[in-house]
Amino acid sequence: MSTTPMSPGFDEIHILWTSEGMSCDGDSVSITAATLPSIEDVILGAIPGLPKVHLHNKVLAYETGAPFLEPFWAAARGELEPFIFVVEGSIPNENINGEGYWSAMGNDENGDPKPLTRWIDELAPKAWAVVAAGTCATYGGIHAMAGNPTGCMGLADYLGYNFRSAGGLPIVNVPGCPVQPDNFMETLLWCLYMAAGLSPPIPLDDMLRPTWLFGKTVHEGCDRAAYYEQGDFAKDYNSPKCLVKVGCWGPVVNCNVTKRGWMDGLGGCPNVGGICIGCTMPGFPDKFMPFMDEPPGGSLSSAIVSVYGPFIRRMRAITNKGANHEPKWRHNRPELTTGYDPRFTPSSSS
Ligand code: SF4
Ligand code: SF4
Repeated sequence: MSTTPMSPGFDEIHILWTSEGMSCDGDSVSITAATLPSIEDVILGAIPGLPKVHLHNKVLAYETGAPFLEPFWAAARGELEPFIFVVEGSIPNENINGEGYWSAMGNDENGDPKPLTRWIDELAPKAWAVVAAGTCATYGGIHAMAGNPTGCMGLADYLGYNFRSAGGLPIVNVPGCPVQPDNFMETLLWCLYMAAGLSPPIPLDDMLRPTWLFGKTVHEGCDRAAYYEQGDFAKDYNSPKCLVKVGCWGPVVNCNVTKRGWMDGLGGCPNVGGICIGCTMPGFPDKFMPFMDEPPGGSLSSAIVSVYGPFIRRMRAITNKGANHEPKWRHNRPELTTGYDPRFTPSSSS
Protein backbone atom coordinates (compact mmCIF):
# COMPACT_ATOMS: atom_id res chain seq x y z
CA MET A 1 0.00 0.00 0.00
CA SER A 2 1.37 3.42 -0.86
CA THR A 3 1.05 6.27 1.61
CA THR A 4 0.88 9.91 0.58
CA PRO A 5 4.21 11.77 0.88
CA MET A 6 3.98 14.33 3.66
CA SER A 7 6.45 16.93 4.81
CA PRO A 8 4.64 19.11 7.35
CA GLY A 9 7.71 19.90 9.49
CA PHE A 10 5.93 20.19 12.85
CA ASP A 11 7.98 21.45 15.83
CA GLU A 12 5.54 20.08 18.42
CA ILE A 13 2.93 17.34 18.35
CA HIS A 14 0.52 15.74 20.81
CA ILE A 15 -0.13 12.03 21.11
CA LEU A 16 -3.69 11.40 22.27
CA TRP A 17 -3.76 7.75 23.30
CA THR A 18 -7.01 6.11 24.32
CA SER A 19 -7.04 2.61 25.77
CA GLU A 20 -10.80 2.67 26.32
CA GLY A 21 -11.38 0.05 23.66
CA MET A 22 -11.99 -3.47 24.99
CA SER A 23 -8.52 -4.27 26.26
CA CYS A 24 -6.33 -5.04 29.24
CA ASP A 25 -4.15 -1.92 28.73
CA GLY A 26 -1.37 -4.41 28.02
CA ASP A 27 -0.07 -2.45 25.03
CA SER A 28 0.47 0.67 27.16
CA VAL A 29 2.28 -1.48 29.70
CA SER A 30 4.27 -3.24 26.98
CA ILE A 31 5.73 -0.06 25.46
CA THR A 32 7.30 0.85 28.79
CA ALA A 33 9.78 -1.96 28.00
CA ALA A 34 10.85 -0.45 24.67
CA THR A 35 14.48 0.52 24.13
CA LEU A 36 14.64 1.19 20.35
CA PRO A 37 13.65 3.88 21.17
CA SER A 38 12.31 4.10 24.70
CA ILE A 39 9.22 6.17 25.39
CA GLU A 40 11.33 8.27 27.77
CA ASP A 41 13.79 9.13 24.98
CA VAL A 42 10.94 10.28 22.75
CA ILE A 43 9.17 12.37 25.38
CA LEU A 44 12.30 13.90 26.87
CA GLY A 45 13.64 15.01 23.49
CA ALA A 46 16.70 12.77 23.45
CA ILE A 47 16.31 11.87 19.76
CA PRO A 48 17.58 14.46 17.28
CA GLY A 49 15.11 15.80 14.72
CA LEU A 50 11.86 14.82 16.40
CA PRO A 51 9.13 17.33 17.18
CA LYS A 52 8.56 18.01 20.88
CA VAL A 53 6.13 15.29 21.97
CA HIS A 54 3.31 15.69 24.50
CA LEU A 55 1.98 12.25 25.46
CA HIS A 56 -1.52 11.83 26.90
CA ASN A 57 -1.93 8.19 27.97
CA LYS A 58 -3.89 7.36 31.10
CA VAL A 59 -1.55 4.57 32.22
CA LEU A 60 1.47 6.89 32.03
CA ALA A 61 -0.19 10.19 32.96
CA TYR A 62 0.23 12.15 36.18
CA GLU A 63 -3.20 13.78 35.76
CA THR A 64 -6.50 12.06 36.39
CA GLY A 65 -10.14 12.96 35.70
CA ALA A 66 -10.93 16.24 33.94
CA PRO A 67 -7.32 17.50 33.72
CA PHE A 68 -6.35 14.29 31.90
CA LEU A 69 -9.32 14.58 29.53
CA GLU A 70 -8.86 18.27 28.72
CA PRO A 71 -6.54 17.72 25.70
CA PHE A 72 -9.01 15.18 24.28
CA TRP A 73 -11.89 17.63 24.66
CA ALA A 74 -9.80 20.43 23.13
CA ALA A 75 -8.86 18.23 20.16
CA ALA A 76 -12.50 17.25 19.67
CA ARG A 77 -13.38 20.98 19.58
CA GLY A 78 -10.66 21.50 16.96
CA GLU A 79 -8.56 23.57 19.37
CA LEU A 80 -5.53 21.27 19.69
CA GLU A 81 -3.36 20.27 16.77
CA PRO A 82 -1.42 18.62 15.38
CA PHE A 83 -1.91 15.29 17.11
CA ILE A 84 -1.43 11.59 16.53
CA PHE A 85 -4.42 9.56 17.69
CA VAL A 86 -3.43 6.17 19.14
CA VAL A 87 -6.21 3.67 19.74
CA GLU A 88 -5.68 0.68 22.02
CA GLY A 89 -8.39 -1.93 22.48
CA SER A 90 -11.15 -3.49 20.41
CA ILE A 91 -13.98 -1.27 19.14
CA PRO A 92 -17.38 -2.47 20.38
CA ASN A 93 -20.46 -2.07 18.24
CA GLU A 94 -22.51 0.58 20.02
CA ASN A 95 -25.38 -0.02 17.57
CA ILE A 96 -26.17 -3.15 19.58
CA ASN A 97 -25.60 -1.92 23.14
CA GLY A 98 -29.23 -2.20 24.26
CA GLU A 99 -29.98 0.67 26.61
CA GLY A 100 -26.44 1.20 27.84
CA TYR A 101 -23.00 1.42 26.31
CA TRP A 102 -20.11 -0.99 25.94
CA SER A 103 -17.14 1.28 26.50
CA ALA A 104 -16.80 4.98 27.35
CA MET A 105 -14.17 7.57 28.26
CA GLY A 106 -15.27 10.47 30.44
CA ASN A 107 -18.64 12.15 30.06
CA ASP A 108 -20.38 14.00 27.25
CA GLU A 109 -21.95 17.46 27.37
CA ASN A 110 -25.02 16.00 29.15
CA GLY A 111 -22.96 14.28 31.81
CA ASP A 112 -23.57 10.85 30.32
CA PRO A 113 -20.71 8.41 29.63
CA LYS A 114 -19.16 9.32 26.25
CA PRO A 115 -18.73 6.14 24.19
CA LEU A 116 -15.35 5.37 22.67
CA THR A 117 -16.95 5.31 19.24
CA ARG A 118 -17.98 8.96 19.60
CA TRP A 119 -14.43 9.88 20.53
CA ILE A 120 -13.21 8.04 17.43
CA ASP A 121 -15.79 9.79 15.23
CA GLU A 122 -14.65 13.18 16.51
CA LEU A 123 -10.90 12.68 16.79
CA ALA A 124 -9.86 10.36 13.95
CA PRO A 125 -10.71 12.77 11.08
CA LYS A 126 -8.89 15.62 12.86
CA ALA A 127 -5.79 13.58 13.70
CA TRP A 128 -2.66 14.10 11.62
CA ALA A 129 -2.11 10.32 11.87
CA VAL A 130 -4.08 7.44 13.39
CA VAL A 131 -2.25 4.45 14.86
CA ALA A 132 -3.85 1.23 16.17
CA ALA A 133 -1.77 -0.36 18.96
CA GLY A 134 -2.09 -4.10 19.53
CA THR A 135 -4.22 -6.83 17.98
CA CYS A 136 -7.44 -5.73 19.72
CA ALA A 137 -7.31 -2.29 18.08
CA THR A 138 -5.93 -3.49 14.74
CA TYR A 139 -8.18 -6.46 14.00
CA GLY A 140 -10.50 -6.99 16.99
CA GLY A 141 -8.47 -9.63 18.83
CA ILE A 142 -9.81 -11.77 21.64
CA HIS A 143 -12.86 -9.56 22.22
CA ALA A 144 -13.96 -10.07 18.62
CA MET A 145 -13.87 -13.88 18.67
CA ALA A 146 -16.86 -15.96 17.65
CA GLY A 147 -19.74 -15.82 20.10
CA ASN A 148 -18.88 -12.45 21.65
CA PRO A 149 -21.84 -10.28 22.71
CA THR A 150 -20.32 -6.85 21.91
CA GLY A 151 -19.82 -7.10 18.13
CA CYS A 152 -16.22 -5.96 18.63
CA MET A 153 -14.03 -5.08 15.64
CA GLY A 154 -10.72 -3.53 14.69
CA LEU A 155 -10.27 0.19 14.04
CA ALA A 156 -10.10 -0.25 10.27
CA ASP A 157 -13.31 -2.30 10.38
CA TYR A 158 -14.89 0.67 12.14
CA LEU A 159 -13.41 3.55 10.10
CA GLY A 160 -12.94 1.62 6.86
CA TYR A 161 -9.70 0.37 5.31
CA ASN A 162 -9.79 3.39 2.97
CA PHE A 163 -9.87 5.90 5.85
CA ARG A 164 -7.39 8.76 5.56
CA SER A 165 -6.34 10.99 8.45
CA ALA A 166 -6.06 14.78 8.27
CA GLY A 167 -2.44 14.18 7.24
CA GLY A 168 -3.63 12.04 4.33
CA LEU A 169 -2.38 8.80 5.89
CA PRO A 170 -4.04 5.39 6.17
CA ILE A 171 -4.47 3.89 9.64
CA VAL A 172 -1.15 2.42 10.77
CA ASN A 173 -1.68 -1.01 12.35
CA VAL A 174 0.85 -2.45 14.81
CA PRO A 175 -0.60 -5.81 15.92
CA GLY A 176 0.54 -8.07 18.75
CA CYS A 177 -1.10 -9.31 21.92
CA PRO A 178 0.41 -7.32 23.44
CA VAL A 179 2.25 -5.28 20.88
CA GLN A 180 6.01 -5.94 20.85
CA PRO A 181 7.45 -2.85 22.58
CA ASP A 182 10.09 -1.88 20.01
CA ASN A 183 7.78 -2.66 17.08
CA PHE A 184 5.38 -0.04 18.37
CA MET A 185 7.98 2.56 19.30
CA GLU A 186 9.86 2.14 16.02
CA THR A 187 6.61 2.68 14.11
CA LEU A 188 5.77 5.73 16.24
CA LEU A 189 9.27 7.04 15.62
CA TRP A 190 8.75 6.73 11.86
CA CYS A 191 5.45 8.64 12.18
CA LEU A 192 7.14 11.34 14.25
CA TYR A 193 9.92 11.70 11.70
CA MET A 194 7.23 12.01 9.01
CA ALA A 195 5.60 14.71 11.13
CA ALA A 196 8.95 16.49 11.29
CA GLY A 197 9.21 16.25 7.51
CA LEU A 198 12.34 14.12 7.76
CA SER A 199 11.27 10.68 6.53
CA PRO A 200 9.58 9.14 3.50
CA PRO A 201 6.04 7.74 3.81
CA ILE A 202 5.74 4.70 6.05
CA PRO A 203 5.46 1.51 3.97
CA LEU A 204 2.37 -0.54 4.87
CA ASP A 205 1.03 -3.85 3.57
CA ASP A 206 -2.59 -4.48 2.62
CA MET A 207 -3.48 -5.14 6.26
CA LEU A 208 -1.96 -1.72 7.09
CA ARG A 209 1.06 -3.22 8.91
CA PRO A 210 4.59 -1.78 8.58
CA THR A 211 6.12 -4.01 5.92
CA TRP A 212 9.59 -4.23 7.45
CA LEU A 213 8.16 -5.57 10.73
CA PHE A 214 5.57 -8.07 9.50
CA GLY A 215 6.94 -9.25 6.16
CA LYS A 216 8.47 -12.51 7.44
CA THR A 217 7.18 -15.45 9.43
CA VAL A 218 8.00 -16.45 13.01
CA HIS A 219 9.47 -19.67 11.62
CA GLU A 220 11.89 -17.82 9.34
CA GLY A 221 13.54 -16.20 12.35
CA CYS A 222 13.17 -18.98 14.92
CA ASP A 223 16.10 -20.26 16.98
CA ARG A 224 14.56 -23.75 16.66
CA ALA A 225 14.23 -23.79 12.85
CA ALA A 226 17.24 -26.11 12.42
CA TYR A 227 15.46 -28.75 14.53
CA TYR A 228 12.43 -28.41 12.27
CA GLU A 229 14.56 -28.87 9.17
CA GLN A 230 16.09 -32.01 10.69
CA GLY A 231 12.68 -33.43 11.59
CA ASP A 232 13.48 -33.27 15.31
CA PHE A 233 10.34 -32.34 17.25
CA ALA A 234 9.63 -31.64 20.91
CA LYS A 235 7.08 -33.95 22.52
CA ASP A 236 6.51 -31.59 25.45
CA TYR A 237 7.56 -28.11 26.56
CA ASN A 238 10.71 -29.19 28.36
CA SER A 239 12.71 -29.41 25.16
CA PRO A 240 14.91 -27.14 23.04
CA LYS A 241 13.55 -28.77 19.84
CA CYS A 242 10.96 -27.53 17.34
CA LEU A 243 7.55 -26.98 18.96
CA VAL A 244 5.34 -27.54 15.92
CA LYS A 245 3.94 -30.84 17.20
CA VAL A 246 2.90 -29.25 20.48
CA GLY A 247 1.02 -26.44 18.77
CA CYS A 248 3.40 -23.85 17.25
CA TRP A 249 1.84 -21.90 14.35
CA GLY A 250 5.12 -20.11 13.57
CA PRO A 251 5.47 -21.33 9.94
CA VAL A 252 2.35 -19.40 8.87
CA VAL A 253 2.38 -16.37 11.16
CA ASN A 254 3.69 -12.88 10.28
CA CYS A 255 5.69 -11.74 13.29
CA ASN A 256 9.29 -10.75 13.95
CA VAL A 257 9.75 -11.52 17.65
CA THR A 258 11.92 -14.56 17.01
CA LYS A 259 14.36 -12.20 15.27
CA ARG A 260 13.89 -9.17 17.47
CA GLY A 261 13.32 -10.76 20.87
CA TRP A 262 10.87 -9.27 23.29
CA MET A 263 12.73 -7.01 25.69
CA ASP A 264 16.11 -5.59 24.78
CA GLY A 265 16.71 -8.46 22.35
CA LEU A 266 15.80 -11.23 24.80
CA GLY A 267 12.87 -13.62 24.46
CA GLY A 268 10.54 -14.10 21.47
CA CYS A 269 7.95 -16.82 22.05
CA PRO A 270 9.35 -20.05 20.44
CA ASN A 271 12.94 -18.96 21.17
CA VAL A 272 12.17 -19.30 24.87
CA GLY A 273 9.80 -22.28 24.79
CA GLY A 274 6.39 -20.74 24.03
CA ILE A 275 4.38 -21.95 21.05
CA CYS A 276 3.33 -19.26 18.59
CA ILE A 277 -0.45 -18.85 18.79
CA GLY A 278 -0.63 -16.30 15.97
CA CYS A 279 -1.41 -13.31 18.19
CA THR A 280 -0.38 -10.73 15.57
CA MET A 281 -2.67 -12.11 12.90
CA PRO A 282 -5.98 -10.70 11.62
CA GLY A 283 -7.55 -14.16 12.11
CA PHE A 284 -6.51 -14.37 15.78
CA PRO A 285 -7.74 -16.08 17.90
CA ASP A 286 -10.41 -18.11 16.08
CA LYS A 287 -8.23 -19.36 13.21
CA PHE A 288 -5.54 -20.61 15.61
CA MET A 289 -7.67 -22.57 18.05
CA PRO A 290 -7.46 -24.92 19.83
CA PHE A 291 -4.03 -23.52 20.73
CA MET A 292 -2.33 -26.66 22.05
CA ASP A 293 -3.06 -28.93 19.04
CA GLU A 294 -0.64 -29.46 16.19
CA PRO A 295 -1.56 -26.96 13.43
CA PRO A 296 -3.07 -28.62 10.34
CA GLY A 297 -0.40 -27.26 7.93
CA GLY A 298 2.26 -28.10 10.50
CA SER A 299 1.22 -31.72 10.60
CA LEU A 300 1.56 -32.09 6.81
CA SER A 301 4.89 -30.23 6.51
CA SER A 302 6.38 -31.93 9.56
CA ALA A 303 5.36 -35.32 8.11
CA ILE A 304 7.23 -34.49 4.88
CA VAL A 305 10.23 -33.18 6.80
CA SER A 306 10.21 -36.36 8.89
CA VAL A 307 11.06 -38.35 5.75
CA TYR A 308 14.29 -36.50 4.87
CA GLY A 309 15.02 -34.72 8.16
CA PRO A 310 16.63 -37.75 9.91
CA PHE A 311 18.83 -38.37 6.81
CA ILE A 312 20.01 -34.73 6.88
CA ARG A 313 20.66 -35.08 10.62
CA ARG A 314 22.83 -38.22 10.10
CA MET A 315 24.83 -36.63 7.27
CA ARG A 316 25.38 -33.51 9.32
CA ALA A 317 26.52 -35.60 12.28
CA ILE A 318 29.27 -37.11 10.07
CA THR A 319 30.36 -33.66 8.83
CA ASN A 320 30.18 -32.29 12.36
CA LYS A 321 32.39 -35.10 13.63
CA GLY A 322 35.06 -34.23 11.02
CA ALA A 323 34.84 -30.51 11.68
CA ASN A 324 35.33 -31.16 15.38
CA HIS A 325 38.93 -32.31 14.79
CA GLU A 326 41.91 -30.08 14.01
CA PRO A 327 43.70 -30.57 10.65
CA LYS A 328 46.53 -33.16 10.85
CA TRP A 329 49.33 -30.66 9.94
CA ARG A 330 49.02 -28.92 13.32
CA HIS A 331 51.66 -30.80 15.37
CA ASN A 332 54.91 -30.39 17.32
CA ARG A 333 57.08 -32.75 15.25
CA PRO A 334 60.31 -31.40 13.67
CA GLU A 335 58.92 -31.30 10.12
CA LEU A 336 56.55 -28.93 8.28
CA THR A 337 53.53 -30.74 6.79
CA THR A 338 51.23 -27.81 6.04
CA GLY A 339 51.76 -27.97 2.26
CA TYR A 340 53.79 -24.74 2.23
CA ASP A 341 55.45 -24.18 -1.17
CA PRO A 342 58.58 -21.91 -1.12
CA ARG A 343 58.31 -21.20 -4.88
CA PHE A 344 55.74 -18.49 -4.12
CA THR A 345 57.82 -16.50 -1.61
CA PRO A 346 59.11 -13.03 -2.77
CA SER A 347 62.82 -14.05 -2.39
CA SER A 348 62.54 -17.23 -4.54
CA SER A 349 60.63 -15.46 -7.33
CA SER A 350 63.12 -12.55 -7.72
S1 SF4 B 1 9.21 -23.81 17.14
FE1 SF4 B 1 7.64 -22.99 15.72
S2 SF4 B 1 8.60 -21.23 14.68
FE2 SF4 B 1 10.24 -22.44 15.69
S3 SF4 B 1 11.01 -23.87 14.11
FE3 SF4 B 1 9.39 -24.97 15.22
S4 SF4 B 1 7.50 -24.53 14.05
FE4 SF4 B 1 9.02 -23.03 13.39
S1 SF4 C 1 5.60 -15.42 18.04
FE1 SF4 C 1 3.41 -15.80 17.75
S2 SF4 C 1 2.48 -15.73 19.82
FE2 SF4 C 1 4.54 -14.77 19.92
S3 SF4 C 1 4.19 -12.54 19.59
FE3 SF4 C 1 4.62 -13.43 17.57
S4 SF4 C 1 2.59 -13.96 16.73
FE4 SF4 C 1 2.33 -13.65 18.94
